Amino acid sequence: MDNSYINSRFLQFLMLEVLNGPELRRHPLFSDFDAEAFLMTLDAAKQLSDNYLYPIFREMDKEKACYKDGVVEVHPGLKQAIKALAEGGWISAIDAPHNNGRLMPQTLLSACQLVFYAANANAVSYVFLTQGAARLIRNYGTDELAQTYIPSMFAGHWQGTMALTEPQAGSSLSDITSSATPMPEGHYLIKGQKIYISGGDHTAVDNVVHLLLARIKGAPAGTKGISLFVVPKYRPENGGLVFNDVTTAGIFGKMGQKGYVAAHLMMGENDECRGYLVGEPHKGLSYMFQLMNEARIGTGLMATGVASGAYQSALKYANERPQGRHPSNKDINQPQVLIIEHADVKRMLLFQKAVIEGSMALLLQCSYYGDQYRTGQGEEKENAHLLLELLTPIAKSYPSEMGTLAVSAGMQCMGGAGYCADFLLEQYYRDIRVNAIYEGTTAIHGMDLLGRKIFMANGQTAQLYAAELAKPSKKPNKGPV
Ligand SMILES: Cc1cc2nc3c(=O)[nH]c(=O)nc-3n(C[C@H](O)[C@H](O)[C@H](O)COP(=O)(O)OP(=O)(O)OC[C@H]3O[C@@H](n4cnc5c(N)ncnc54)[C@H](O)[C@@H]3O)c2cc1C
Repeated sequence: MDNSYINSRFLQFLMLEVLNGPELRRHPLFSDFDAEAFLMTLDAAKQLSDNYLYPIFREMDKEKACYKDGVVEVHPGLKQAIKALAEGGWISAIDAPHNNGRLMPQTLLSACQLVFYAANANAVSYVFLTQGAARLIRNYGTDELAQTYIPSMFAGHWQGTMALTEPQAGSSLSDITSSATPMPEGHYLIKGQKIYISGGDHTAVDNVVHLLLARIKGAPAGTKGISLFVVPKYRPENGGLVFNDVTTAGIFGKMGQKGYVAAHLMMGENDECRGYLVGEPHKGLSYMFQLMNEARIGTGLMATGVASGAYQSALKYANERPQGRHPSNKDINQPQVLIIEHADVKRMLLFQKAVIEGSMALLLQCSYYGDQYRTGQGEEKENAHLLLELLTPIAKSYPSEMGTLAVSAGMQCMGGAGYCADFLLEQYYRDIRVNAIYEGTTAIHGMDLLGRKIFMANGQTAQLYAAELAKPSKKPNKGPV
């Protein structure tokens, strides 16, 4: 397959000339990342994608994940892809303790994620889920939990998940009923079921670590009674792994993302499922919000990456497919023109380009605010926090909704070929649709934006945003672009 799925030059432009990412180097956390390091890292992401992700993009769809006799089989290439991502340090890239107090800026990681998602969102999503789950343990769990779980997660041997949704509790997490009973030994016995759990079980890893929301017996009703637990499929004990009573009832037959498992899990059917409390009781949802906010930006990155893959396919096709003649030319003896010369095809290509490049700019801007929040002080930190909060629902929803329309336009550019399985467009179209559904539907984010975010800090957030828009753009970086 031709491996043009992303415009890396545009990402370089955003990172170095629009955002001036290497400016972040003034903080010791990011001191390794000058302009050259930005470029080399982006290049490494592209090489890894070319070698391990893109080659199995189509195959993971055709040889989809399947559930048989309690085992969830995934494409064999996924194991190699996870290994390459782990060895490249991508799972641990934003964990300071693992990296001796140094970090990859989120701005750079997000640009690289766009490359990965464009190459094969269905493979790379597994590892960024693991990254988020490990970070939750790091930030809120005990040292013992961190030492027990994080190394194997960063090594790509163990999968991490976020396990929130239950049959009666999708958008409304206050209705979660999975229960946690405290035991004298210090752990909890978990009972309940979770549905649609991405990466919830599969053969490319040796274990799965669920970051799971449940209600401790006697907890208050609603969101204030939800706690967060580490619930492994196999629990480490006496140097080995013991089955922890987490059973996979099946996987969901999805319209797209067929290589990316969404599992139905049963916990504690034999009353032997142990969960380990993360942080304080009843504060689980607030901890989970860290992961959810990251995952929302991640969903925007994923949608943008998929739309980019579709756009590059449609662009290539439009540059190769001869069909028809210019309206001014009625001479049938003249050769046909390439379809990219037709005004309507150009319109559709430009629509895709605008959606994708706008989404990329928004997402990297959000990531830059994330970096400023992590490293800034006082007002700079507070402002970055407010702006990120305000923009997160948009950064999740705009690329998901408009990316779907962009992929549809890509299909339209290609005519019948776009609709048929000889080309990639039909897969991109199926794959991208879920982005507007998971990590909170668009309606839920709309309510979050208008009901909460706009009024944060007594309306100061919206004013701050208006002031950001009015700012002159940054001076171009003098890096080696
Ligand atoms: C492929 C896939 C992977 C997933 N991965 C995970 C995962 O890894 N972990 C996890 O925990 N969950 C996961 N989910 C679950 C996902 O987050 C939920 O599907 C999503 O939050 C919506 O919940 P629901 O499906 O129950 O829909 P519902 O909540 O029933 O919503 C149905 C419709 O009603 C609307 N609606 C609901 N409430 C309101 C309201 N108050 N006001 C206005 N409109 C409303 C929604 O916008 C939607 O249009 C996944 C889902 C899918 C499909």
